[in-house]
Parts: sequence; structure tokens; C-alpha cells
Amino acid sequence: MINIKDLHVNIKDKEILKGLNLELEKGKVHAIMGPNGAGKSTLSKAIVGHYDVEVTKGEIEYKGKNIIDMLPEERALDGIFLSFQNPIEIPGVNNAYFLRTALNAKRKYLGKPEMNAAEFLKLLRENVKRLGMSTEMISRSLNDGFSGGEKKRNEILQMEVLEPDMILLDEIDSGLDIDALKAVSEGINRMKNGERTFLVITHYSRILDYINPDFIHVLQDGKIVKTGGGELVKILEEQGYQAIEKDV
Ligand code: ADP
Ligand code: MG
Repeated sequence: MINIKDLHVNIKDKEILKGLNLELEKGKVHAIMGPNGAGKSTLSKAIVGHYDVEVTKGEIEYKGKNIIDMLPEERALDGIFLSFQNPIEIPGVNNAYFLRTALNAKRKYLGKPEMNAAEFLKLLRENVKRLGMSTEMISRSLNDGFSGGEKKRNEILQMEVLEPDMILLDEIDSGLDIDALKAVSEGINRMKNGERTFLVITHYSRILDYINPDFIHVLQDGKIVKTGGGELVKILEEQGYQAIEKDV
């Protein structure tokens, strides 16, 4: 699904990713762990084409083509979705209206008819209920005054409605209470269909116990330094990142 080769990324003229290589297999769940400041969020921003980051070298191949020069909205239409570590609040933009506009832009791109307000509201209500969100949240402004957990559930709501092919979740589990973590994990598991690919950035094994990743990658100092299976999580939790014997 994604093949990243020798990726170098700057933020404000400082090199953050320093020759990162990573392959994300179609239909698989990949997790990335790594110390604070290693470049995990930078990697997710580079994949979606966020304006904060500047790719100076390397390739990001998605569905077989290099996407470095594609606009963020083109990448989104083509099925890439990112849940931000810190979702921004947009007062004045209605949550449901925002999401319907995004969904209809995607349906139009795919040659499908637009969804009218009534149909959309029905779809939204079902999803909101399943996620344990209050229906009042869909009529509020996007993320405006939402608690940390409410923002993360709202991100999962967007993911479920937009049905992306490549799902990037940046610390979706940080700061969640037990019920919210369960709701979010169930939402992720519902999206698994053997085709979709997931990249889950996290610091904790808790969410990984729920979603059962196929691969764990360790990102340190701007590179993937180790790839393995679930056993890596245990080693990291017990011994920390210095215990990782680097592959590169
Ligand atoms: P991680 O997600 O692994 O904790 P980030 O990718 O967020 O790390 O950040 C990597 C480095 O880039 C950090 O040193 C951080 O301070 C820096 N950085 C990220 N965003 C900015 C920004 N907008 N301006 C300046 N420095 C930034
Ligand atoms: Mg981060």
C-alpha cells in the first residue's frame, strides 16, 4: 500500500526524518513506537502532505505512485486519512456539515451520487451511537470545546464515515479513559477488511492488545531502527528504547 524510501524531511530547515525506509502492507496493521521527538508525527504529516513539513529527498509511493507532489486534498480523495495527535478546533464550522461536505467531495471523486442531509444524518446517528458519543456533539462546532476523549472519538467517527484505504492514527489512544479506549479500538477493528492498511502511532501496549498489530516498528532519531512482532512491545515496556538493538 505504501512504500517509503530514503525519506528526508525538514521542519523549519531542521532535518527531522533522516533517510527513513518503511513498507506498509495492504490489509495489515502496523504500529510505530518511539521516543518523544523521534519524528513519528512528522512521518504521518509527510504522508498526508501537511504544510508543516518539507520533503527534501526520497519517495513516498502509495498504490504504486509517488505522491510527494500531490496536494493534501488529492491524497485524501485517493483514500489517505490521518487522525491528528492534536485535532484542531474550528469554531463556526458545524461538525456534521463539515463531515458531510468531506464525504460528498469523496463520493463525487468516486463518481457516486451525493448523500442528502437526511440520509447522512441517519448514517451519522448510527455511527455516533455505536461510538458512545452524544448526538449533541454532531451539531456543535468541529472539536470546539470537546474534551480530549471526545476529540479522539470524533476522529474515529470521521474515519468510519469516510472509509479510507490508508488509515494513519497518531496517538489516538493518548489520554483516553477505559471506555473511550475500548470504543476507539472497536471502531478501528470494525474498519479492518483485509484491504485497508493501518499505521498506528502509540506509546502504549494497551491499544495494541485490542487491535492486534501485524508489525511493530521502532522509530528513533528520524529512522526506522527495528521492525518486529508483538514481542518488541514487551521488550520496550520492560527495558525502554535503549534496549533495542538497531537493524540500521
Ligand atoms: P514525535 O511525534 O515522534 O514525538 P515529532 O515528529 O512531533 O515527534 O517532532 C520531531 C521533532 O520536530 C521535535 O524535535 C519537534 O520539536 C520538532 N518539530 C515538530 N513540529 C515542529 C514545528 N512546527 N516547529 C518546530 N519544530 C517542530
Ligand atoms: Mg507525535
